[in-house]
Amino acid sequence: MIRQKSFANEMPTLFLVPTPIGNLSEMTPRAIEVLKTVDVIACEDTRTSGQLLKSFDIHSRLIAYENFNEISSAKGIINLLSQGKNVALISDAGYPLINDPGQRIVSEASAMGFNVVPLSGCNAMLNGLVASGLIVQPFIFIGFLPANRSDCLRKLKEYKNYPMTMVFYEAPHRIEKLMKSCLEVLGDRRCCIARELTKVHEEFIRGTISEILKELTGVKGEIVVIIEGNKDDYSKDVDMSAVLSMVNEAVETGMSKSDAIKEIASKTGVSKNRIYEMVHNHEN
Ligand code: SAM
Repeated sequence: MIRQKSFANEMPTLFLVPTPIGNLSEMTPRAIEVLKTVDVIACEDTRTSGQLLKSFDIHSRLIAYENFNEISSAKGIINLLSQGKNVALISDAGYPLINDPGQRIVSEASAMGFNVVPLSGCNAMLNGLVASGLIVQPFIFIGFLPANRSDCLRKLKEYKNYPMTMVFYEAPHRIEKLMKSCLEVLGDRRCCIARELTKVHEEFIRGTISEILKELTGVKGEIVVIIEGNKDDYSKDVDMSAVLSMVNEAVETGMSKSDAIKEIASKTGVSKNRIYEMVHNHEN
């Protein structure tokens, strides 16, 4: 066991410093102060971070921890801490470690008894989540799903029954594909696309997955996807074949499939998603 009293010991410190995800005025005074006073700032890319540091007149020594070799870069940072240096870890934007490197460095530094001190600040996942309009607690942060379609579908199937709100990151050129996969596996849940957070072109698209899919052509910029969790009450003892018959009967009377699902959902108390999924599975 290691107990860390962050400001009551003489051990060197690894500071985890978030940086703006778009809007430079979100750089906090504390972040500037820490970055100015540490011995070394470890970043992903010295050119990207160099520009940021220049904007805030920060001149501490900047080193790149190599993205693809966390083992050797962790060693390098542990060496610096062992020499008594205070180090700040930053990523290109937002929080280090959140879909960015740094996990190994933090695990090793904390295990060796160095202080690991996080600063509060920018993170795309939290901005997207709190403004999504969906229930925020509990939530699960998933980050990027695999780009390969079958791996992505497999992962989504794992998450399908999770009752908590899910948060994903996605690149603009893959967003349509991701939303189609979500519709296929999760059903037509409520969702929010949070785009270009904190920037001039910030935008939120809130609706069901199928509604949002109609709006996505040519969408650009950085994106967070927030999708509601599974709302089905699996403990409820419902005869789903009877529910399916009710939907089919309603459709036979001339009602559209979506209206029939809505009506039977409100009559039976079974969620629209669950009925939609059953009808969909039955048709395929
Ligand atoms: N460390 C960052 C954080 O704390 O949010 C995340 C880094 S991850 C490599 C980059 C992804 O974060 C982007 O592809 C996008 O999904 C999301 N992201 C970053 N900035 C964003 C912004 N301003 N608006 C929306 N999403 C953003």
